[in-house]
Amino acid sequence: MTRCYNFCAGPAALPEPVLETARDELLDWHGRGLSLMEMSHRSPEVVGVAQRAEATLRELLGISDDYAVLFLQGGASTQFAAIPLNLVGEGQTADYVNTGQWSKKAIAEAKRFGKVNVAASSADTNFSTIPPQATWQQTPGAAYLHYTPNETIGGVEYHWVPEAEAPLVVDMSSTILSRPIDVSRFGVIYAGAQKNIGPAGLTLVIVRRDLLGRAQSSCPTMLDWKVAADSDSMYNTPPTFALYLAGLVFDWLKDLGGLSAMEAINRRKAEKLYAAIDGSDFYANPVELPSRSLMNVPFTLADDSLDKTFLKESEAAGLLNLSGHRSVGGMRASIYNAVSEEAVDALIAFMRDFEQRYG
Ligand SMILES: *Cc1c(COP(=O)(O)O)cnc(C)c1O
Repeated sequence: MTRCYNFCAGPAALPEPVLETARDELLDWHGRGLSLMEMSHRSPEVVGVAQRAEATLRELLGISDDYAVLFLQGGASTQFAAIPLNLVGEGQTADYVNTGQWSKKAIAEAKRFGKVNVAASSADTNFSTIPPQATWQQTPGAAYLHYTPNETIGGVEYHWVPEAEAPLVVDMSSTILSRPIDVSRFGVIYAGAQKNIGPAGLTLVIVRRDLLGRAQSSCPTMLDWKVAADSDSMYNTPPTFALYLAGLVFDWLKDLGGLSAMEAINRRKAEKLYAAIDGSDFYANPVELPSRSLMNVPFTLADDSLDKTFLKESEAAGLLNLSGHRSVGGMRASIYNAVSEEAVDALIAFMRDFEQRYG
């Protein structure tokens, strides 16, 4: 069996040791004679798996008891609606910063459930920058300030945390667990699992407990964070197998040395790849230097008529899913936690060879 190098933006590569454990335990989980998938979510086994996953995640991210950790469904996109439904009170405004496609979707959805102020936008640079905080027009008394720490499509990442009176609400779908963060700076952290946490079908919400219990009366029960917190994310059947796999990913991160160790690897990977792009006239990355993403690296070819050839040949070489998002074209290498340094080296070697043959 040959495993290819997978640069997919999501669902993304999973750590091989996690897949191996899942394979070994698939038919008979811990000698119980059945798969974890076939067990009741109320069983001590599944409750134990969920509790252990939460405990390991709390340890990795340094999440204090002031925060609830929720394992939900519906993806980050469902949280685009859940956020205003849980947090925007009567007559209140929510501030949003628009740095690209995912910010835009969050803004459009929030407008359905509350008043929205776009405090800043980088549309004028075609989303290749982050507007400096001094230019942001924040609303006094805003319900929260929402931003997208890593724009997965544009490859634009904040390497700083904004200052705000309002609680910070952040979509960390494509950056969570890539490095340590100070959770206490945030009101709500949310993420779809399928980039750095586990398989699709699981959504993580980390919410400061004082923000629970404020939901609009029309908020659907399944979107009310307090209901989820009060029922340990088991108001209804949670995605048990996805949660189990996420727990294995958390264990893998811990064995690796935690998020500082992961960050060192991720920085090496990103630095190499950007250096290869910057060191050639054949490849280019459009993002301003201080805001380049550690996880998603878009790049273009000087001659875009070669794009199809690049993608065809890279795939044949076992380097998968390098095409850019359908909305922007070009190429994109997503180099999440589970994408090894060896995979990035192979990509760089392929890029050099391709340039020599076509440049
Ligand atoms: C992938 C992604 C989403 C969408 O996540 P779903 O779980 O598919 O809803 C939202 N925001 C960001 C930043 C993403 O990378």
